[in-house]
Amino acid sequence: MTRIVCIGECMVEMAPLDSAATYRMGFAGDTLNTAWYLARLLGDRAEIGYFTAVGTDSVSDQMLGFLGSAGIDTSSILRRADRTLGLYMIQLQDGERSFSYWRSHSAARTLAQSGDDISTALRGAGIAYFSGITLAILPPEDRAHLSRALEVFRSAGGTVVFDPNLRPKLWGDPQDMTQAIMDAAGLSDIVLPSHEDEATWFGDQSPEDTARRYAQQGAGIVLVKNGPGEMIVHNGAGLSRHQPEQVSAVIDTTAAGDSFNAGFLASHIAGEPLDQAIAAGARLAARVVTYRGALVEEAVLGHELAG
Ligand code: ADP
Repeated sequence: MTRIVCIGECMVEMAPLDSAATYRMGFAGDTLNTAWYLARLLGDRAEIGYFTAVGTDSVSDQMLGFLGSAGIDTSSILRRADRTLGLYMIQLQDGERSFSYWRSHSAARTLAQSGDDISTALRGAGIAYFSGITLAILPPEDRAHLSRALEVFRSAGGTVVFDPNLRPKLWGDPQDMTQAIMDAAGLSDIVLPSHEDEATWFGDQSPEDTARRYAQQGAGIVLVKNGPGEMIVHNGAGLSRHQPEQVSAVIDTTAAGDSFNAGFLASHIAGEPLDQAIAAGARLAARVVTYRGALVEEAVLGHELAG
């Protein structure tokens, strides 16, 4: 059975209910969203682990309980007595969502203090999944520990999957971001960028440019998402184009890319051909964007019926 380990930060999410002064607490974060969808899609056909660091307080316990009840293995998650979870709050104004973050001292920022912890978490895994946000929250020396652990994992036959998920606000200097992202792509087998962000920060003129730039780093599969636009894939066979499902009433694009990645990977590890795996990712994301929030149970049920 394949074990997939997602590495990154899961935060407390405070989302407004109808009355703007009342908030509901949840848990979310890009790599966690992908882990959650993978666990929901694959059930007992795979083991999905999450690797991060959390506190020893009760909200950290609640988060572990939440992950566990979603079928995600939390046994290698680190506990830090002097830190707790990062938090973000969603504000709604005239229907537009804005986000405020309290994450600069989160426990997750310490997840790569020792490369050995990461190697332990990856023991027995076939796939390691991480993102540009995972990199952004780490001090540079810890980022090197993560890279080294991923290199060792890969040289022992593991597959490394990376979503660049560019978040310039988390980086002091955009050049540090672009350099770290390209370095990480260089040790990845599958890279899953979104063209819009890439165009802004790397100057790519087209999704094809994005695909070629990452392919030159050595990734065997580069799959460039582009919102409702055509996706471009670069693999050993060259470039190919794939239309995502059309969605007439988009409600909330939160976790579109994260759920896409899960739908794609779930199908890919089941041995489906690339074009079917891409269609599966797009089918799941198309359902996710028709609901509010990151983790959409209804989208998964629909996906299983459709798949
Ligand atoms: P991210 O959430 O990382 O910015 P994208 O916006 O590129 O990612 O979207 C990821 C995938 O989600 C797309 O490839 C597509 O399959 C689906 N998707 C996103 N937005 C839409 C949309 N408006 N209509 C249909 N599908 C969408």
